[in-house]
Amino acid sequence: MKIAVINAGSSSLKFKLFDMQTKEVLYASLVEKIGEAGSKIQTHQEALESIDIDFSKIDAIGHRVVHGGDKLTSSTLIDENVIQIISSLSSLAPLHNPANLEGIKVARKKAPSLANIAVFDTAFHSSMPKEAYMYALPREMYEKHHIRRYGFHGTSHSYIMKKAAFMLHKEIDEVNLITLHLGNGASACAIKNGKSIDTSMGFTPLEGLVMGSRSGDIDPSIVLYMQKELGLSIDEADKLLNKQSGLLGICDANDVRNIIEREDEQAKLALDMMIRRIQKYIGAYMALLGSVDAIVFSGGIGENSEYIRARVLDVQMFQNVNSLVIQTDEELEIANECLLILDKNS
Ligand code: ADP
Repeated sequence: MKIAVINAGSSSLKFKLFDMQTKEVLYASLVEKIGEAGSKIQTHQEALESIDIDFSKIDAIGHRVVHGGDKLTSSTLIDENVIQIISSLSSLAPLHNPANLEGIKVARKKAPSLANIAVFDTAFHSSMPKEAYMYALPREMYEKHHIRRYGFHGTSHSYIMKKAAFMLHKEIDEVNLITLHLGNGASACAIKNGKSIDTSMGFTPLEGLVMGSRSGDIDPSIVLYMQKELGLSIDEADKLLNKQSGLLGICDANDVRNIIEREDEQAKLALDMMIRRIQKYIGAYMALLGSVDAIVFSGGIGENSEYIRARVLDVQMFQNVNSLVIQTDEELEIANECLLILDKNS
């Protein structure tokens, strides 16, 4: 059984082909700068054409789709109806869903007889209880406009959770974890009995931890103030919060490797802020979970930086909790999900 995984971004297309017996990667390709001036590859179609494999030997294609909203809460075979729903969710994930759809459309064109399966970043968090996913806004904001916490990085949290359960010799439905996906984008997840019960990202991936260039939690009035008093447009505020804030906003850099090496005040402050925010979430999730089998570090920062891990864990209350480092593999998790869906539909 061979399963391909496509992760299509607005200007990139990541592709991996797995042998599902051995979980070996048979082929991998990354095309970047799609459509940019001077780039050889101008469309997702061309990016997929550049992949040098025989599509007739593949059993299915799994697609990463960022936002499944509240209608698509688990992995699913893609048909016209699913495409319609993903498309209707584009306003909730304007940077991602249209690109993910592009990948789906191109794949369906390239190999019309293959099963295409959508795996959603939001799906793992669909188990959150209502008190976790509701915002304390007028009810109609949720009921009419679907404004709620969705959570992201779900395939990563789910993959890490299963690996951690295995490492701890526990069944999935008996493991309690706090998983930390710390990359350029970063999120924490409270997992009770193998299910997400809360997560730090919200309606969009902007909420929660201090990230590479995203602010994470702030008082929402700040945005109103910036618009009213400083004359920022909606687009400018969006850019400021998503692209110019976080570590970058505080110390003009977002690569933690470099920030750790620096000795200036701003670099030190940026790290202190990032670490404090992570600690606050761990503390809060310990309270929600009652007992925690392990705090799990993942993502570029979590997997590679012993320094950051040690600093995060340097809190009296965390001393009695195991910590694990697990390399995440979102593509493999997507391929595994495809296997389950194929099994269900066979
Ligand atoms: P993305 O969210 O873009 O997928 P990754 O999970 O690959 O990001 O994480 C990228 C980040 O990981 C880099 O910006 C860098 O800050 C951090 N990183 C990678 N290696 C190290 C390291 N050895 N020490 C500290 N940070 C690291």
